[in-house]
Amino acid sequence: MSNTHINLNIRSLKPSATLAINERIAELKSQNKKVYSFGLGQSPFHVPAEVVKELQKHAAEKDYLPVQGLLKLRQSVADFHNRYEHLNFKAENILIGPGSKELIFLTQLVFYGEILFPAPSWVSYHPQAKIIGNNVHFIPTDFDSRWLLSGEHLEAFCGAENDPEKPRILILNYPSNPVGSTYSPNELEDLVVVLKKYNITVISDEIYGLLHHNGEHRSIATLYPEKTIISSGISKWCGAGGWRLGTFAFPKDLDWLLNGMKVAASETFTSVSAPIQYAAVKAFEGSSDIDNYLVHSRRVLSVIGNWCYNQLIQKQIRLIKPEGGFYLFPSFRNYSEKLKHRGITTGKELAEAILMETGVACLPGEDFGLKPKHLVLRMAYVNFNGKNAINQSIKLNINPLPESFVKDNCQDIHTGILKLLDWIEQL
Ligand code: PLP
Repeated sequence: MSNTHINLNIRSLKPSATLAINERIAELKSQNKKVYSFGLGQSPFHVPAEVVKELQKHAAEKDYLPVQGLLKLRQSVADFHNRYEHLNFKAENILIGPGSKELIFLTQLVFYGEILFPAPSWVSYHPQAKIIGNNVHFIPTDFDSRWLLSGEHLEAFCGAENDPEKPRILILNYPSNPVGSTYSPNELEDLVVVLKKYNITVISDEIYGLLHHNGEHRSIATLYPEKTIISSGISKWCGAGGWRLGTFAFPKDLDWLLNGMKVAASETFTSVSAPIQYAAVKAFEGSSDIDNYLVHSRRVLSVIGNWCYNQLIQKQIRLIKPEGGFYLFPSFRNYSEKLKHRGITTGKELAEAILMETGVACLPGEDFGLKPKHLVLRMAYVNFNGKNAINQSIKLNINPLPESFVKDNCQDIHTGILKLLDWIEQL
């Protein structure tokens, strides 16, 4: 069959950029090339032992579970949000899906209206919209706002629209993939003023919430509970991306959307794997061991993120200091003239040159909705043995961890950054 038999919405799409970089890395490795991977943003940490034990205990669970999710799990997810954010969710407000990615996709499918996301944004929001054929808008942000959406950016966009009151969903992600920055309470308040003015619904993608480096994540749902859906899951803070379990917490006012999504879920994935749902109850219930695991995950990410940041800014790379998650978003704009002489004028060309000349694999800012001229890369600092790093952090028991931690425990990250610095030096 030829390409003409592929749905028009899919025809122009390529496989997800993060998965494509992994294939590229595998190809280079098969040619015996050393690659320093800063590509795929997978949690480096193990799944906590007690959660794994629950999975083993429930391996024989074989029945389909309710479309909305196992009641006990929904209750534990509601309690989890209520515990961390002093919200008021009940089990009936929670929807469980095979990853928050699928739930975000289903929302884009079920909602009839416009979808907004800041640029830059996570790599999959826009292709999902394209698959469905949705009307979407990127709202540009800038370096000065730490690549986050400000109330002013949002007002400038909505105020310029012909029909400012049309139904809209804004997808907001923080701590941010690709940037590593997050909103302060004041910044959230400024945004909420504009969201209320234009009656915009928010999907608050908080998948990295518990990986705020100081443990100070705050949800916009605390300020705008009536129209915020919190998107979360176990992929990042619990190290279980491959288990495929995501969660949405809906306010009562959005029951109609939850019900629409249940219909779509019932005709597509039916329900998430039963053993995984039983095991996830433990993850969301939490324990002192899980709290300890989180404390050390954050310490480890913080020391690595800050070390990389300190190295790169010494070479006049424009970079936001990481606040949560495991990403950096360096801009090479200060080198644009030098790069131009080498025929490099886009983020894509930059990523390719760096990969071929140093073995450092990153993604270009274009994959996240930025204009090519920004010459930005996204770097995921996850290429280390997370279990060993946590054990080492527990042993050292110092906060913050010393910078030497990176060289001692994350050699590929250490060498990769030094190679990148050398490359910059030689421009
Ligand atoms: N949102 C963001 C910002 C992400 O980075 C990811 C995964 O990389 C997801 C959502 C999807 O996570 P999952 O489908 O594993 O819950």
